[in-house]
Amino acid sequence: MRIPVSSVDLPEDVAAEVLAVLRSGQLAQGARVAALESGVAELMNVRNVVAVSNGTTALVAALRSLRLPPESEVVTSPFTFVATVNACLIAGLRVRFADINPDDFALDASAAARAIGPSTRCLLPVHLYGQTGDMNALMRVATEHGLLVVEDAAQALLATSEGKFAGTWGTGCFSLYATKNLTSGEGGLITTDDDEQASWLRAYRNQGMVQQYVYEILGENCRLTDIQAAIALPQLKTYEQNVTARRENARLLQEGLDGVSGLHIPREMNGRHHVWHQFTVIVDPASGVTRDQVADGLARRGIGAGIYYPRLLGDYPHIGTDPRVTVGNTPNAASIAASCLSLPVHPRVTPHQIDEIIDGVRSAMERRA
Ligand SMILES: *Cc1c(COP(=O)(O)O)cnc(C)c1O
Repeated sequence: MRIPVSSVDLPEDVAAEVLAVLRSGQLAQGARVAALESGVAELMNVRNVVAVSNGTTALVAALRSLRLPPESEVVTSPFTFVATVNACLIAGLRVRFADINPDDFALDASAAARAIGPSTRCLLPVHLYGQTGDMNALMRVATEHGLLVVEDAAQALLATSEGKFAGTWGTGCFSLYATKNLTSGEGGLITTDDDEQASWLRAYRNQGMVQQYVYEILGENCRLTDIQAAIALPQLKTYEQNVTARRENARLLQEGLDGVSGLHIPREMNGRHHVWHQFTVIVDPASGVTRDQVADGLARRGIGAGIYYPRLLGDYPHIGTDPRVTVGNTPNAASIAASCLSLPVHPRVTPHQIDEIIDGVRSAMERRA
């Protein structure tokens, strides 16, 4: 695609940083990982950041660190990347899906409250596309029901709700996968203000070891390498600038697509700061045009578009029929999975390309049946 839906865009100094690690002989977790952790802690104003090998592992480790009774249930969104639910099941927990709010695509607080049952111990909101859910409402539900909160903030580094960063409401989990706003190729981060939980996580990622050959808990090896940290570190300096570019692209897309009938345009909710990991429109099925037709029309012009995500997690047989998973009824999520389409919004997209995207979408929408 001439205009891809995502693009890996590394600052110039990444190559020198990586080379310095290769020459240093310290390839595994070391000073670069520590610098990445403290750099992110400073940006997010959080006490602890623990780097791990990927975002899925961040979720697994965060969930395990809560030390919930076995068979405890997690209430989460069915409209997310499969890692969210894989992590719950890998961590030995049960999953119950609750519906999303169609305005922010995140777990809906009242739907989550209704889904809570006697074994529910944890709420797992997913901050989809770079915007948090309604964290005030979700935290109120969690407090009322005595639930712990783990946030899947994989797509939402430095997004805020009421001025508070994604990942600082509960235990935050981030991904540094290649397509994410901040990347190390593969990587993950866990954020917490709880020092004891952070120590547990630091031991967990390193075989449960608290000092050389002193094992205190059952752990695993999910360390990040200094090579990976060296890829991510220089991006911390340009991260906010990149978010500004994403926000500007989102604004231009919103403006240019305004008034297109049958098209629902994503927006930043009141009190929130969107980091626009994705710009996701909804193609109303009543418009006579399908989202696949829009995607095909764009593809013919060399414009990439993504479907995140085409199916609800409960619709995959091995998840939906898993006795540990309660699928429930989630009509908002179902209709959005059938009609969502993400358009290029990343910092590499130029204003001229934004016009091409707008043109492409408009002409696809006008070609209705
Ligand atoms: C990317 C992502 C993950 C998993 O991260 P990996 O680093 O790929 O393991 C989890 N949840 C969501 C919503 C994601 O987008």
